[in-house]
Amino acid sequence: MRLKYIPVLISIVLGIIGSAANYSITLNNQQRFIENELIYAAEKRFLMINEIINHSVTVLHSLALHFSVSESVTRKEFEEFTGPLFHHHPYFQAVEWIPKILDKERHVYEQSVRDEGFSGFQITQKERDKLIRRQQQQEYFPVDFIYPFKGNEKAFGFDLASNPIRRAALEKVRDQKIMMLATARIILVQESGTQYGFLLFFPVFKKGKLHKTTEDRQKNLRGFVLGVFRIGDLLCSAHFGDTDIDVFDLLAEEQPQLLFSDGRSNGTEMAYEKELDVGGRKWKIIFRLTSGVMEQNKDYSAEIELIVGLLFTLLLSAVIFILLTKNLAIKKEVIIRTKQSVASELYIKAIFNTTVDGIITINNEGNIQTMNPAAEKMFGFRLEEIVGKNVKILMPEPYKSSHDAYIKAYLTSGAPKIIGIGREVTACRKDGSQFPMRLSVGEMNVENSQMFVGMTIDITELKETEKSLREAKEQAETANRLKSEFLNTISHELRTPLTIILGNIEELTDENELPENDEVADIAQDIENAGLHLLTLINDLLDLSKIEAGKMKLMLKPVVLNEYISDVLDTVKRLAKEKMLRLIFQPEFDAKVNGDPIRLKQVLLNLLNNAIKFTDEGSITIKTEIKAEKAVIRVADTGCGIHREDLQYVFESFRQVDGSDTRAAKGSGLGLAITKKLVELHGGTITVESEVGKGSCFTYSIPIYSKEENHES
Ligand code: ADP
Repeated sequence: MRLKYIPVLISIVLGIIGSAANYSITLNNQQRFIENELIYAAEKRFLMINEIINHSVTVLHSLALHFSVSESVTRKEFEEFTGPLFHHHPYFQAVEWIPKILDKERHVYEQSVRDEGFSGFQITQKERDKLIRRQQQQEYFPVDFIYPFKGNEKAFGFDLASNPIRRAALEKVRDQKIMMLATARIILVQESGTQYGFLLFFPVFKKGKLHKTTEDRQKNLRGFVLGVFRIGDLLCSAHFGDTDIDVFDLLAEEQPQLLFSDGRSNGTEMAYEKELDVGGRKWKIIFRLTSGVMEQNKDYSAEIELIVGLLFTLLLSAVIFILLTKNLAIKKEVIIRTKQSVASELYIKAIFNTTVDGIITINNEGNIQTMNPAAEKMFGFRLEEIVGKNVKILMPEPYKSSHDAYIKAYLTSGAPKIIGIGREVTACRKDGSQFPMRLSVGEMNVENSQMFVGMTIDITELKETEKSLREAKEQAETANRLKSEFLNTISHELRTPLTIILGNIEELTDENELPENDEVADIAQDIENAGLHLLTLINDLLDLSKIEAGKMKLMLKPVVLNEYISDVLDTVKRLAKEKMLRLIFQPEFDAKVNGDPIRLKQVLLNLLNNAIKFTDEGSITIKTEIKAEKAVIRVADTGCGIHREDLQYVFESFRQVDGSDTRAAKGSGLGLAITKKLVELHGGTITVESEVGKGSCFTYSIPIYSKEENHES
């Protein structure tokens, strides 16, 4: 059996035990009730029997006394005395006077009785159920006076001493000093039915004679007053209909002798016993309730209670069974629901814990309730150190100070500023650093308390991307603009010398108007200059495109610094002289740099050309020094200088920071861009410092040559 049905089993067992116990108690109570009934009925009947016997004794005793005090009592006197008593106490079969007749008196006696009108009277004895004349004895105890005579005729003249039981009794009561004595059970002489009878003897002694000793008593005995009782009649006159009795004589010789029985058995063993002294004999009376009374008292309540108890047990067990089954079903349901809710809780928790966006919940006072790991990471706080604190801790000023008022205003007016909407805010980490954040706030109601949930996304990267995109866009726009400018510039730069060339050639094409020789020489000079300018421009463009395409190859070799500088100075010496400018170079030390000699010369030439170009008077000084494994070369002039705001553009292609009208004469705007790229290709850097009106200083560095690093770049 499965454990869950144990309560049902217990209820069945307890129910059966309870019902059985109740049945037994009720049965016991019924038994006790019947017992009480029996005792009551028995005591009542016993009292009545006792009363009857006592009355009878009284009657007989008074008659015996009457005989004792009278000299002689006549039959008539006997009847007159006995009649009324008998009438009041109708329990006797008969009251008799038994005189003692000596054998010598027998005839006289018999004759005297006959003379009284009882012809044929004689002293008799019983033999084979017949009364015959009493054989001769020393003394006789014949039944003489009988009241009532009618019905007892058979006893008239019967010698009581002729029967052993009667004789034993009368001798005993005669010889012993007792007032009366009852016989054992006898069948009465006059009995025609089957019931037993008994006799109660009262000895009567001669008036005035002693009867203390046995001899006295035997000698002076006059006779007996005798009560004749039919036991059945006597006991039945004390019958109220509720008891049956069995009466035994306990003093019978061999074993208790049955004196009387109602002869009805009610089938119950329940009996009540009493002992009664009747003329010196001991009667045991066993009372039983009659079957009628038993039937009346028959009570089925115990059985009914048992059946009801068992039915109730059955019902209770069924109810428990149903409840258990139901309970088990509910338990199962609860388990399933709990599992589902745990699963969904775990599911939600997993989402909460793994989502990359921060989730923070606060109550309506702004205190933090939960924070997911993403938010912990975002703000640098651990959950346990921030739970319960006001969410203001995550805000910089001025939001921090206005947040409480904001929540209050929302709770009272319901007008949202951010709830239900999302926006970008500035948030504050634990270390005080600030970062841009996308915040969306939702409102929820958990177990009747209003709460807010905030989803946070750190948009620092987004912002940076935005910024770089914006910059890229600006750069693209600038590049586009520069491209247009480049095209403008290049077309301008190309057209200007071409215009000069074509204009001059025009003067030589008309054969009739050819110029003078010296003029032709000037025209040729102009055409050459313009052609050279075009060539320079095209070379610069080619260099730049090579560099930008990554195709410029350097032929690196050790270059003696001072020789290199001196060579370039020689190239520009004539130009400087033309502009009355001093070229100053005083080498203090020498070194070898690692470079492509042609390109290195191009760099310095560019710088010196510019210096000469933008300096009207003064000097151009070249200084060198060694710094961090590099040779640093400075080219300083005393020229016009460059505006501070233009400084950043000088190294860009086609950037000329002065007016466009000077371009044709002064260059393509590519020189410094190429110079910078060439320096960088060598592994060096180039910078410019300048002050308008005072001059400019370009500084560039080239790595010092070392034997190990002699390779092409
Ligand atoms: P360009 O070939 O037109 O001279 P560069 O690239 O060589 O172009 O020079 C760019 C611009 O930088 C010049 O147009 C000029 O305005 C300025 N610049 C260069 N060198 C000097 C200098 N030494 N002094 C003043 N301005 C200079």
